Amino acid sequence: MKKIQMVDLGGQYQEIKEQVNTSIAQILETSAYINGPEVHAFQKELEAYLNVKHVIPCANGTDALQIAMMGLGLKPGDEVITADFTFAATVEVIALLQLTPVLVDVDIETFNIDIAAIERAITPRTKAIVPVHLFGQCADMDAILALAEKHNLYVIEDNAQAIGAKHLSRSGEKRMAGTMGHVGATSFFPSKNLGCYGDGGAIFTNDDALANTLRGIVNHGMYERYHHDVVGVNSRLDSMQAAVLRAKLPKLDSYCDARRTAARKYSAAFGNNPNILIPKTVNGCEGICDTCDCHVFHQYTLRITNGKRDALVKYLNEHDIPCGVYYPIPLHRQKAYLDDRYKEVDFPVTNRLVAEVISLPMHTELDDEQINHITAMVIGFMKG
Ligand SMILES: *Cc1c(COP(=O)(O)O)cnc(C)c1O
Repeated sequence: MKKIQMVDLGGQYQEIKEQVNTSIAQILETSAYINGPEVHAFQKELEAYLNVKHVIPCANGTDALQIAMMGLGLKPGDEVITADFTFAATVEVIALLQLTPVLVDVDIETFNIDIAAIERAITPRTKAIVPVHLFGQCADMDAILALAEKHNLYVIEDNAQAIGAKHLSRSGEKRMAGTMGHVGATSFFPSKNLGCYGDGGAIFTNDDALANTLRGIVNHGMYERYHHDVVGVNSRLDSMQAAVLRAKLPKLDSYCDARRTAARKYSAAFGNNPNILIPKTVNGCEGICDTCDCHVFHQYTLRITNGKRDALVKYLNEHDIPCGVYYPIPLHRQKAYLDDRYKEVDFPVTNRLVAEVISLPMHTELDDEQINHITAMVIGFMKG
């Protein structure tokens, strides 16, 4: 059996090696390292893939979120509601911009931001909601967009984990993750579903004026050379990363399919175990069906409900099966984000999830032998 890895990008590279190597060699020959033709071409190709009017490439997903908030003109003191159960980058940029983060609980079945909790957290100072499409599945965007419209709020989608995912709205329309709110932000970190070979990110919007603002912000607030109209940042996707992304983008749908296939096999094996809860797919799907293309399984995350999660992690690690706990500590209990406003009773779901979740190896190169071994080891441990 091949050695099991949490993330295995080697197989993907072998498939695109010639194209990537040729493009990178060409960039080296032409010295178009920054803002070269590869970046522009990738931008256009991603706009077409996502069916969104504007893609603004930038240096990483954290910058993408920060620049989105700067572009919307959010000001110190403005309240921004986001999920307690996510990677810290989301709340980090809110705090960095001196906006007021308002962390709220999540849904027990989807791990995504809880709509009733958002509603309870809205005050006259609330300016934006940042849903995170966690682990590759969209938050309930119908409900979020309706709340935003009712209360006149911006919606900034953190799409770092869900590029290529789709959302089936109640009206029957299918839209790409990251393109439903006022602005979306994504990451091309190597381990993300569309990853480059370094850092990278992008911002999406259908709003022409906002796109223009964002394009200036990523480039030192310049709209005309050496005229700095607003305070900006330096955040660029470099040409070599764009070349890698151009090679991978045409394969993204097949990468998503490979992840869904692995997820389906995991879930089929675990489905009947009373102490293992398999991830639930929503957004119009009844469970993990053969044709569903909504969830892209950035992570395949189980809930272990008999109190043995930590013992299972230890057992798997001892048997050379990597696994992860995303995330072990809720953001409201992280030192950097402690605040008297947060009460433990407001986070029952997150507090439970941090003790129950375990993510299994998930990537495009998993084979049946590996999946069977992983599922057998997990089920064997749970029986013991
Ligand atoms: C990875 C990630 C980010 C940050 O992306 P970087 O490119 O690493 O800066 C933001 N939000 C979420 C949910 C992520 O998973």
